[in-house]
Amino acid sequence: MRLIIISNRLPLTINKRQGELIYHPSAGGLATGLASLEGNMESIWVGWPGKEIKDEWEQESIRNDLKERQLVPVFLNKKDIKLYYEGFSNKTIWPHFHYFTQYTTYRDRYWEAYSRVNQKFADAVLDILEEDDMVWVHDYQLMLLPSMIRQAFPKISIGFFLHIPFPSYEIFRVLPWRKEILDGVLGADQIGFHTFGYMRHFLSAVYRISGHEHHFGKLTIDNRVVSVDVFPMGINYQKYAQPELDIYKDDGSIKIKQLAKETKLVISIDRLDYTKGIPQRLKAFEHFISKNPQYHGKVNLVMVVVPSRANVDQYKELKEEVDTLAGRINSTYGTFDWVPIRYFYRSLNFGELITLYEQADIAMITPLRDGMNLVAKEFIACKEKSKKGVLILSEMAGAANELTEALIVNPQDRNDMAQNLVIALEMNEKEQCWRLEQMQDKLKNYDVKHWAATFIKEQVSLMELQKHNDAKRFTANDYQTLSTAFAAADQKLLLLDYDGTLMNFHPDPQAVVPDESLLVLLQKLITIKGLKVVLNSGRDKQTLEEWLGHLDMDMAAEHGVWIKENNEWRRNPNVSSEWKSKIRPVIKELVERTPGSFIEEKDFSIAWHYRRIDKDLGEKRVREFRDVLMYLTANLDLQVLEGSKVVEIKNAGVNKGKATLNWSNAQEWDFAMAIGDDRTDEDTFEAMPKDAFTVKVGLEKTNARYQVLSVEDIRKLLIDLTNIS
Ligand code: UDP
Repeated sequence: MRLIIISNRLPLTINKRQGELIYHPSAGGLATGLASLEGNMESIWVGWPGKEIKDEWEQESIRNDLKERQLVPVFLNKKDIKLYYEGFSNKTIWPHFHYFTQYTTYRDRYWEAYSRVNQKFADAVLDILEEDDMVWVHDYQLMLLPSMIRQAFPKISIGFFLHIPFPSYEIFRVLPWRKEILDGVLGADQIGFHTFGYMRHFLSAVYRISGHEHHFGKLTIDNRVVSVDVFPMGINYQKYAQPELDIYKDDGSIKIKQLAKETKLVISIDRLDYTKGIPQRLKAFEHFISKNPQYHGKVNLVMVVVPSRANVDQYKELKEEVDTLAGRINSTYGTFDWVPIRYFYRSLNFGELITLYEQADIAMITPLRDGMNLVAKEFIACKEKSKKGVLILSEMAGAANELTEALIVNPQDRNDMAQNLVIALEMNEKEQCWRLEQMQDKLKNYDVKHWAATFIKEQVSLMELQKHNDAKRFTANDYQTLSTAFAAADQKLLLLDYDGTLMNFHPDPQAVVPDESLLVLLQKLITIKGLKVVLNSGRDKQTLEEWLGHLDMDMAAEHGVWIKENNEWRRNPNVSSEWKSKIRPVIKELVERTPGSFIEEKDFSIAWHYRRIDKDLGEKRVREFRDVLMYLTANLDLQVLEGSKVVEIKNAGVNKGKATLNWSNAQEWDFAMAIGDDRTDEDTFEAMPKDAFTVKVGLEKTNARYQVLSVEDIRKLLIDLTNIS
């Protein structure tokens, strides 16, 4: 199996010197993580080489040179770069996803270019793609790519990872192209984010905009399972913890060490970007200086701003703002022997970067929004030897979810930041060491290699699930086998679940009453000679009797508390209902707190339904409620069943499987079949004879022999059976 990686940029830059092409590999985090993948997975990387190459001969020669390095270039022209890269990617998605909606540019031309260039990437991929390859698409520039590849290769395994935040639905919905973007990403089988928050926002947008509901992060789209999950990206830990010794020899490193001897060093390193909170940080530092004269002359802020996107207006304005602020603070507080802020607008070489990390007493990393923030992690890794140093980290950085022992601050709150600066300056070495070690442990274990390996491992197991599902998919051949067996058998058994199997779920209670065509279908089934039809449902017996009682059909109600045979209901002797008075008040309270949810009380069980309310709220309530229930049910011999948007409490020892035995064991059957859709039906499948035809509606993992997608498929199958006899 080959891995095809696609990102906007290839991990290299091309320079031309005296007409000759020179290639410089760049060892970014992603490249390192991927290089380390075990199992010798052959990988090919597709992306833009970062430079406009007009000449076709030159393009061809680059293509050939890169082939040896397993790289495939996608050449972008000036227009592509301007409209797709600088335009839609960096002036629409980037600000919008970082909550800077005031900077979002809404321009159709950008969007058109974005789609066009995504297609360009897709074409380059399709040129080389083979059926059993695995694809991994990266980041916000290529959000349409997964579905473009999916169209050409419906069965191929595709992963997508977003390296920036995914904003809350309220922000995301504002984008005119929201649906197309989601549909583009949903072409993938696995979609990864840095944090649980981003994942939650994405799933909520998918539900509200595209209508797909998830079940523990899994969505069913067409006939695929799409898994959405969290994979926080790590760093190449050893590269920072044990840097090679020859990196320190440059002049910059020596000067930094000298400065660190003289004062307390606070460092701040980021690209010039409005998301990084640079002016806010400067103002917080100014506030700190003004409130803490005792530190005058003793603390230096070394602020490195790495040039970025310099031709975009907002970045130019930001640069001016930062220049002015730094100048003003220095001129206000500076003395002949103290310049509070050492400000550099340039990039650092690796030696300078490591030396700054190692020498700093404090790192102040306070972005207003940041997908992850690797600088924070690198700083912690560089403290491996000294175990001295304090990280002040914005709660808005993805990294704050893992680096919980940092001093976490609100980057808009200058009091908070200034106070934490004092706390950091005064923190004793023992505490510094303890906090650093906690964070180092996490970063060591969850480094970038681990990140890449986990993502791929999960994707492989999804591929297996997909194969498992495909293998169980009920095909025309299976229908042949089934109908032949059905036609040949004298004694036939058919067990049917009701909700989700014969009828679709619907929030409107009227819409789940059996429709005319279902009644006709059941009537036809029960008149088939030699066929016993049994309705095996979780619903109460009154409802089943009211809806279906007129049909000459056996039934099990409340998961087998009640059995109807020969037109008579009898109760399972092992069940009682005294416990209900203890549970009822708890569920009543739950309903009061959750408008739209409701209680369904059956003779021997109580169910709480949340299908009419927001799914996330419902699941949150279930989690809260589970603890109370565990406590209450512990001594009452009860079980808690979680169905689809329903939690049901009932006596232990009663389930659909036990009910099934009532019929499956009653005699020898020449043909047996059971159909169901949720976890409670798994008990039915298990209780059926070994050679039975068991069919699950839906794509979750199942012990049934076959899977179909929908209620409509089942209805059609049953109609076909009525035509056989
Ligand atoms: N970095 C760099 N040159 C510099 C300073 C920093 O390449 O002069 C690196 C830094 O080591 C880090 C990356 O740039 O790996 C910045 O990643 P981060 O996630 O912090 O922010 P981003 O720039 O991706 O928003």
